[in-house]
Amino acid sequence: MKVKVAVNGYGVIGRRVADAVAKQDDMEVVGVCKVSPDYKALFALKKGFKLFAADEKGVEKFRKMGVNVSGTVADMVKEADIIVDATPGDIGPQNKEMYAKASKKAIFQGGEEHELTGFSFVAQCNYNQALGRQFVRVVSCNTTALCRVLNALDLAFGVEKARVVIARRAADPDEIGRGPIDAVVLDPVTLPSHHGPDVKTVLPHLNITTMAVKVPTTHMHLHSLIVKLKDKTATVEKVSEVLRRTPRILLVSSKLGVKSTAHVYDLGREIGRERSDIFENIIWEDSLTVEDSELYFFMGVHQEAIVIPENIDAIRAMFELASSEKSIQKTDASLGIKSSIP
Ligand code: NAD
Repeated sequence: MKVKVAVNGYGVIGRRVADAVAKQDDMEVVGVCKVSPDYKALFALKKGFKLFAADEKGVEKFRKMGVNVSGTVADMVKEADIIVDATPGDIGPQNKEMYAKASKKAIFQGGEEHELTGFSFVAQCNYNQALGRQFVRVVSCNTTALCRVLNALDLAFGVEKARVVIARRAADPDEIGRGPIDAVVLDPVTLPSHHGPDVKTVLPHLNITTMAVKVPTTHMHLHSLIVKLKDKTATVEKVSEVLRRTPRILLVSSKLGVKSTAHVYDLGREIGRERSDIFENIIWEDSLTVEDSELYFFMGVHQEAIVIPENIDAIRAMFELASSEKSIQKTDASLGIKSSIP
């Protein structure tokens, strides 16, 4: 029997989660909930997803536009085993009450506080701790990427401390009202940024400090990492080897012409990814440098896509459908996640 998944909030993350669920053989989409009857609603229907409105007024709005709506979010929740909540940050607490009342499981996204569920998830780090849980928070894009790579380095070499500077994309491609368009914004001015503490919700023992700035781009975040390793024998070759065999990490090289986040975006199109999505941490292999057991490198993070596999694995863990390794393998195969180029 397939797990019935509803997606509440059909924006950047919700649309991608619904498409990824539809690709799995052990789960299915029973509905998606939207606020407006726009082009995204029409394409949801075209994909065969049942469409629900956020409330009764919304149902009226959809019907007036001639868009086929199956009821309100409450109706959708009834049909689901689990709800993936992809509404904007801070709506989670009120929605959690609704899911709890209906005795349903739910996944929340990184825009919500860790305290909402008391458990934050990254598949490669703490899959087993999600087994059977009712509520899980999949951490944000930056936190997911940092957890994946730092966990792998920690297991292989021991991480004494990690220092990270994050150049954040200012907006997603469809966010026409957000900026800056001509500035680098210190985000925030006071240190650390929230990313380091957020990594600790998944890897509490890690010594990490982060700083962030917002830059006028929509493609990706770019992380500059300096990681002090405990293993004094670590070399670039050994680090490369560990990263190469870590799931959801893809090494790229400027020698192959990948010199910017724009090239990574183009690579997504070249390999035929829907929406040009890059689910992997992109690490520039030729940036890897080890000096006095300090490892330096650049890492790109496609904010719209990187948390999608984690949502799928979280569903499997919460229903105890597969081991961590099996789930990660299944998800990665279904999404065409790569370990090398081409
Ligand atoms: P989004 O604005 O693209 O999509 C949210 C959607 O939810 C919108 O379509 C909005 O109309 C709808 N919505 C608003 N209120 C609603 C309600 N009450 N019921 C149903 N739908 C409602 O946002 P997003 O970027 O997809 O972000 C969703 C969550 O994912 C946030 O917690 C965010 O922090 C997190 N996240 C976003 C990104 C990213 O880069 N965009 C990356 C990782 C995590």
